[in-house]
Amino acid sequence: MVCFLDNFSTTQIDKRVLSEMMPYLREQYGNPSSTHRFGIQAREAVELARDRVARLINCCPDQIIFTSGATEANNMVINQPQFRKVCVSSIEHKSVFFPAKKKEFLTIIHPEPNGQIDIKKIDTKQDLISIMAVNNEMGAVQNIGELSDRAKGVFLHVDMAQALGKVIVNMGDLCVDFASFSAHKIHGPKGIGALYVKDYDLKPIMYGGGQENGIRSGTLNVAGIIGFGKACDILSNHMDEIANKIYELRDCFMNEWSRIPNARCITFDFQVPNAISAVVPCDNIDEFLNRCDNEEIFVSTSSACLSSFREPSNTLIEMGIERKVARRILRICLSRMNTRRQIKVAVKKMAKIMEEVNEKSMDYNGHFVS
Ligand code: PMP
Repeated sequence: MVCFLDNFSTTQIDKRVLSEMMPYLREQYGNPSSTHRFGIQAREAVELARDRVARLINCCPDQIIFTSGATEANNMVINQPQFRKVCVSSIEHKSVFFPAKKKEFLTIIHPEPNGQIDIKKIDTKQDLISIMAVNNEMGAVQNIGELSDRAKGVFLHVDMAQALGKVIVNMGDLCVDFASFSAHKIHGPKGIGALYVKDYDLKPIMYGGGQENGIRSGTLNVAGIIGFGKACDILSNHMDEIANKIYELRDCFMNEWSRIPNARCITFDFQVPNAISAVVPCDNIDEFLNRCDNEEIFVSTSSACLSSFREPSNTLIEMGIERKVARRILRICLSRMNTRRQIKVAVKKMAKIMEEVNEKSMDYNGHFVS
């Protein structure tokens, strides 16, 4: 049984999303920029999807620009040449952090030990501040309301790729100028996302056919957009039900994990309920992860861009957690597609793997050998 507990990296596509997309990959393959009926039908479907995304985040449809994902949306904002003086946090996704590093004046703000950015410490004499709403390694939720109050008069960008579906996102309540979103984090397809632009004359970073009000040229990914719209629609209509399911799965995981000798979970005050930081009482973490892989239990210790190097989570290091300890913390992220049975089976298997790996790494005196 496949058990995917790494839903920060991506999520399984919802069947309802896939079935709304399929006709646009097969029969209704019109180009939404065409002026004939075949194109107009595709355009209408795109606009319905735009309405659905806008409804979920409470903004106007014309404030949504479809992009290839949150990476592109983040780059579109940070790379604007007029933003010369920029402040970002040290736990941002690379698609914010790397373009920010090219700026003439960059301030990096570090999180507190609980994973939160102390908003009061942000110097607001900036052209642009960019802080993520929910961290993708341990699920820390930042106080975007407080930030948007404090950053009045400064352009504010929020990477909301991990926030959608985990916390309430209401653009109407916030003084945020730009926000980035990604469909594959909410059971939509990969390769599609959006940038919310409050009211700013954003300069295009690519030139071409002038789609998306000339800001993001390129033939629209119709099926992807429709999938994204449907994924948002499901969230809008089933938010409470989904939240209850996540709490139920979380309790199940914590309960099962607490039965493993010496295993514990680190809980932080400002963490999304999907996220669990589970400490593995095992010195040979690489062996543990390899064996989990063999058993089709998919977990990781850091973000997808880092995990191929089996590096500890940058966020945990930034929070002051010792490297040795951080390497042993699994970043579990649950989704509504997980089941209690999957979790029970996975934790049981992981307990067995820990036992076997620990036995192997003990010398004849019962000490761990590194
Ligand atoms: N920002 C955050 C916080 C993310 O977690 C991710 C995906 N790992 C991205 C941006 C990039 O999103 P995409 O895959 O849509 O480019």
